Amino acid sequence: MDSESDKLRMFFLPFITPGHMIPMVDEARVFAKHGVDVTVITTQANAALFQNRIDRDSKAGHPIKIHALQFPSAQVGVPDGIENFAAITSMEMGSGLLQGMQLLQKPIEQLIHDVRPDCIVADMFFPWSLQVATELGIPRLAFRGTGYFSLCAEHCMRIHEPHKSTDSDVVLLPGFPHKIEMLTSQLPEWSRTTTNFTRSMDIMRESEENSYGMLVNSFHELEDAYEEYFKTIMGLKAWSIGPVSLWMNRDVLDKAERHNLADGDGHNDVMEWLNSKNLNSVLYVNFGSLTKLSATQLKEIAHGLEASGHLFIWVVRKMDKDEDKEVLPEGFEKRMRESKRGFIIKRWAPQMLILDHLSTGGMVTHCGWNSILEGLSAGLPMITWPLFAEQFYNEKLLTDVVRIGVAVGSKEWKNCWHEGTYFVGREEVEKAVRLVMGEDQEVAAELRKRASELQVLAKKAVEVGGISHANLMALINDLKSLKIQRSQNVTS
Ligand code: UDP
Repeated sequence: MDSESDKLRMFFLPFITPGHMIPMVDEARVFAKHGVDVTVITTQANAALFQNRIDRDSKAGHPIKIHALQFPSAQVGVPDGIENFAAITSMEMGSGLLQGMQLLQKPIEQLIHDVRPDCIVADMFFPWSLQVATELGIPRLAFRGTGYFSLCAEHCMRIHEPHKSTDSDVVLLPGFPHKIEMLTSQLPEWSRTTTNFTRSMDIMRESEENSYGMLVNSFHELEDAYEEYFKTIMGLKAWSIGPVSLWMNRDVLDKAERHNLADGDGHNDVMEWLNSKNLNSVLYVNFGSLTKLSATQLKEIAHGLEASGHLFIWVVRKMDKDEDKEVLPEGFEKRMRESKRGFIIKRWAPQMLILDHLSTGGMVTHCGWNSILEGLSAGLPMITWPLFAEQFYNEKLLTDVVRIGVAVGSKEWKNCWHEGTYFVGREEVEKAVRLVMGEDQEVAAELRKRASELQVLAKKAVEVGGISHANLMALINDLKSLKIQRSQNVTS
């Protein structure tokens, strides 16, 4: 048992989108569960999203708390209470959020100087945290919110620029452990051309390269060849400690309150609906926390789902300009409700609860890294439908490497709030749903078998004796040794 002065103190700085905040809060909770004194730094409205779970951990004796800062809403012209990208309804609000977080840099730096933790785990969007860590002589661990495969693919694209030496629409990722081909239109804009975001990414990457290492929400068995590539070819230190969602969310309350949005559609209704369905019979369709789809695309999905004849839960988010418009096909919602064929959620879905339910048999995913890990932890085959960020790379891991996914045929990378020019048609949706939900029994069985195998490996990884578990212990010991070395340097 560590004495108070020996206790390792860590600060966690999550970014203000669910896809970054949810896994980092889980990570913070994992460290606290193993005796580390943890503080999560965020703004008040964001703190409210996970306060209940922190309170429960704290009552259970885990040393964890939140330091909640007031968001400078008035200064940046954002309505009170809007402090997360999942809540914005315009690009201006998004810019306001970024400005607000910049204004919080000084108070956070001051807090770090005052408290002098032993380590800072900071999201990629806070590259400045490296400077504070260096000033204090403490390690900074960087967090990207994605897995090794996409980090390696991004590196490969940046170093080799294969798209610049060909007229073809297709590029091959040179020197990759698997043969990975992509359409140039699927590459992230910041990789394809130089945008403002390319420069921001350079700054983030430089700060990651100069950090103590990277904390990765993944597990060795999922992408071992790419963990190796990351550590040898890219030469970076990393600890895989995932899937963190599996580690920390074991009871219903934890899963339900993972991101405690008070405006949820009522978890009970969807769970009751699922309870009335057969084993593996329901397809869960969700495009993550940020994606808003155009009216055209939503219509195509509705027609495709209906024509497939399969049961589904669909989280529908329409573009802000369509907020007051009826965008689904006429009578669709009524038909689905009355026939009990489809359950439509228009706000926040209790995703982990749904994925882990025995009636859920597959998912349509936009290939956000957290959704992927949550889906495979539930042993589900997937229909992959990437849209933005690093999602097209993640798709390739699912379809070409671990082969638990079938591509719907998404061809165009686009910014998450842009409509884009390309749509996936209803026939493609119907075909992919029929395939994954079992009309060609052989294909579906193979997908399901591989997904179940990965589920077993994911669960083992975070148990005692698993590699993620061992990595966590090794990292905590490393950080303790660094703390002892620092205190010896001070006294000598
Ligand atoms: N999520 C959820 N309900 C929703 C939408 C998203 O619980 O209605 C959670 C999901 O379980 C995951 C996170 O939000 O943990 C989304 O992260 P991901 O990396 O999958 O995608 P992003 O939202 O960053 O695009």
